[in-house]
Amino acid sequence: MSPVKDFDIAIVGGGIAGLTLAIALNSRSIPVTLYEQAASFGEIGAGVSFSPNAVQAMKVCHQGIYEAFETVCTRNLWPSKEKVWFDYVDAYSDVTSDGVLATAFTISNSLGQNGLHRAHFLDEAVKLFPKQLVRFGKRLQNITEDGNGRLVMHFDDGTVAETDAIIGCDGIKSRVRQAIVGPGHPSARPVYTHKYAYRGLIPMEDACAAVGEERAQNACMYMGHDKHILTFPVNHGKTLNLVAFRTTSEDWPDAQRLTRSGELDELLHEFEDYGPAVIKLLKLLDPKLNVWAIFDLGYPAPTFYKGRICISGDAAHATSPHHGAGAGFCIEDSAMLAELLADEQVKSRHELEAVFATYDAERRSRAQWLVESSRWIGDCYELRAEGIGNDFTKIEAEIKKRNGIIADINIEEMCARAKDELRKRLSGSCE
Ligand code: FAD
Repeated sequence: MSPVKDFDIAIVGGGIAGLTLAIALNSRSIPVTLYEQAASFGEIGAGVSFSPNAVQAMKVCHQGIYEAFETVCTRNLWPSKEKVWFDYVDAYSDVTSDGVLATAFTISNSLGQNGLHRAHFLDEAVKLFPKQLVRFGKRLQNITEDGNGRLVMHFDDGTVAETDAIIGCDGIKSRVRQAIVGPGHPSARPVYTHKYAYRGLIPMEDACAAVGEERAQNACMYMGHDKHILTFPVNHGKTLNLVAFRTTSEDWPDAQRLTRSGELDELLHEFEDYGPAVIKLLKLLDPKLNVWAIFDLGYPAPTFYKGRICISGDAAHATSPHHGAGAGFCIEDSAMLAELLADEQVKSRHELEAVFATYDAERRSRAQWLVESSRWIGDCYELRAEGIGNDFTKIEAEIKKRNGIIADINIEEMCARAKDELRKRLSGSCE
C-alpha cells in the first residue's frame, strides 16, 4: 500500500507539545519521527491544570489523549465547586472560629478546575505513540539542507538524520527557534519576568488540617502584595499541588539554569506576613525545595516558521504560568498542525511551506497575546497591576475577561477556518 503522504515530518522535543503532535500525526497516517534529547520521556513531578480550550484540543488531536487526561485528572472535590476554576482569597486573612477561610471572589468556567500530575499524564500519553518512531538521546544542534531539498538535522552525538520538514517542540530554549529567527535575534532567548516560584506537593489530609477542607480540597489562589500562592488537588484528591510565586527586582543569576535549589526557611521568610492558616500550609512543604525562574518569550518571535521548519509549544510562545494555559496552547498548536497536515490537498513536501505559513498566520497573535496577558494577570494576582492595585472587583473583571478569551473558543472551528485559509493559499489566492 502506498503511503497517504509523500513526505515525512521530524518533531524535535518530546514534551507535551511534541508528544501530542506526534500522536495526532501518527493517528492520521502522517509519517513522523520524534527526536528527544533525553534518554527517555520525562516530566517533572508537579501539577498542571487544563482549561476547556485545552480539553477540546486534546479531542481534536486524538481521543486517546483526552481519555489519558480523564484517567489522571482530578477536579475540585466538592460537588458545589464543580465549575469553579479558582476561589480567590485574601492571603492576609485567617480562618474563622468555624474553620473557614473566606472567599474574596470566584472564577468559574464550563469545566471547572482540571488538575493533574504531569508525570502521570505523560505515562498514559506515551502509550499512544509507537516506541519505534522515537529516537532518544538526540539533541539537535543545527539544521542544513542537502542538494535534494531534504533538511538535515545534526545532533550533538555526531549523527545526522534527514527529513522533509521539522517541527521544533524543543521548549523555551529552542534550537529550532534560533534556526528560524537567527541566534542574534532578541526572540532567540527567553526573558526573565522577575518572578520565581517554589513548587511542592502536600498530603491532602495535612493540608485540610492547615487551611480547612474547603480551601484544600478545591482550587484556591491566595493573593498578596508582590506574591501569590495557588493550590489545587491532584492525584485523585490525595495530594495538594502548591505553587508559591514571588516578584523580585533582582536578576536571575544564571539564564542557562532555570531552576535552583531553595530552602523552606527562605520561603517562610518571604511569605511571613501571610495569614496564620497559609503559613501553616507552607510549613508542610519539604525543607528542600526547587525554585523555578519564570522566563517567557517576552520578546515575541517575528514568525513561527521559515520554509519547511516551524516551531510549536513553548518553543514558539513560552509564557509565564499565570493563566494556567501554556500547556493548553501547546495542545491547540498540535491540533491545528495535525489538521492542516492531514488535509487531503497536502500530499507532498511542496505544500508544507503553505501549511506552516497558515499555522503562523492563524496561531501567532493568539499565542503571543497569552504571553503578554499572563504577565499582566500575574501582576493582578499580586495586587500590583497599574490601575488595578488591590481592588478585588477590578481584579475579578480582568480575570473574567481574559480567561474568556482563552477558554471560550471552538477549537474545531479554529482548525476548520485554518484549513479554509490553507486551501486559499494553495490555490494561490492568498499571500
Ligand atoms: P517542554 O516541556 O520544555 O518540552 C521540550 C522537550 O524538548 C523536552 O523533552 C526537552 O528535553 C526536549 N528538547 C529541548 N531541546 C532539545 C534539542 N535541542 N534536541 C532535542 N530535544 C530537545 N501550562 C498549563 O497549561 N497549565 C498549567 O497549570 C501550567 N503551570 C505551569 C507552572 C509553571 C511553574 C510553569 C513554569 C509552567 C506552567 N505551564 C502550565 C506551562 C507548561 O508547563 C508549558 O507550556 C509546557 O509544559 C511546555 O511544553 P513543551 O512541550 O512546549 O516544552
